[in-house]
Amino acid sequence: MLAPYAVHVKDSRGRRYPEAKHPYRDDFQRDRDRIVHARAFRRLENKTQVFTRRYSDHFRNRLTHTIEVAQISRTIAGALHLNSDLVEALALVHDIGHPPFGHSGENALNKCMQRFDERFDHNLHALRIVEEFEARYADFPGLNLTFEVREGIIKHSHDYTESEYPQLGEYLLNQRPPLEAQLIDLTDEIAYNTADLDDGYEAKLLKLADIRASVGIFERFYREVEKQYPTVRERLKFNEALKRMINRFVTNLIETTLQRVAESGVRSVEDVRNLPERIAAFSPEVNHERQEAKEFLYRYMYFSDSLRGQKADGEKIVADLFEHWVQNPGDLPRSYQIQINDGVASLPRIICDYIAGMTDNYILDQHKKLIRRDLLR
Ligand code: MG
Repeated sequence: MLAPYAVHVKDSRGRRYPEAKHPYRDDFQRDRDRIVHARAFRRLENKTQVFTRRYSDHFRNRLTHTIEVAQISRTIAGALHLNSDLVEALALVHDIGHPPFGHSGENALNKCMQRFDERFDHNLHALRIVEEFEARYADFPGLNLTFEVREGIIKHSHDYTESEYPQLGEYLLNQRPPLEAQLIDLTDEIAYNTADLDDGYEAKLLKLADIRASVGIFERFYREVEKQYPTVRERLKFNEALKRMINRFVTNLIETTLQRVAESGVRSVEDVRNLPERIAAFSPEVNHERQEAKEFLYRYMYFSDSLRGQKADGEKIVADLFEHWVQNPGDLPRSYQIQINDGVASLPRIICDYIAGMTDNYILDQHKKLIRRDLLR
């Protein structure tokens, strides 16, 4: 039932360490299952999506966000007859390289690394998690995922060049990724644009009137809902409008991508790879609506005064600890000191890897233990 331009599991370029086939799960299904059983995956539960402080127990964290991305991606993959096992694996792994405290943690870590002429990039970090850091199997380091999943980790959201990243040369950087990977960045956006409106409204950081005045697509659906359900309470109207918004994004992504597939005449994965640009896309009109929602969230939420405090705290905690371990590598756990002695990587990189793997809770504990202790001396 797969489209000719879908990735067929029998054509996979395979794993780094060859393995016997499983009797009733194919290679992409096994990859998906390995991701779900990984430690880094479980840690997503305690990593910030947007809110560091838990305003309430039903807000998204990075794990529930990831599950939403997987759900939306599977729907779209099914409608496009893409390989939904590969899509699911890619969706479940897409945020695994994120450090604690969301984007503030990422920025802080990157700034710390820049002092040493290095940088932090969450996609590259995700690749190292699945290649090196996960220690579960007797036969190989990491998860030994198929080429297509590793390629998708690197290429789902960003185009890396071989001149800048020679270590990624094996991932066919001058080619587009398969449609299964192209989808992920767009479904990620559908998921967080709508979920952040939901959580922001729930947290009372966003006012309904502001959303209605600035996010055209939301306003259109809200009016429709008001007409249809004049007496239901506001929260339910809000949910209904948001549901229609997700549906419009998803439907448009399916239809536009199908249309672009037809126009481009692609008949195989190789054709998809060799096109000059990605073909998974929204229509220009929906793209504008998406942009509008995104800009609203930047202005009223991500860069709002209400979140400024927790963002600054997150950045400071990362920077404090990074500096502390640069000055006192003896305070790192033993396994990291062994890495330093073995010269596996530079000291800043080892510290960066350690911090990037932490959950919000764990880094807060470390900060209490190591930094506030210093302040008390
Ligand atoms: Mg995401």
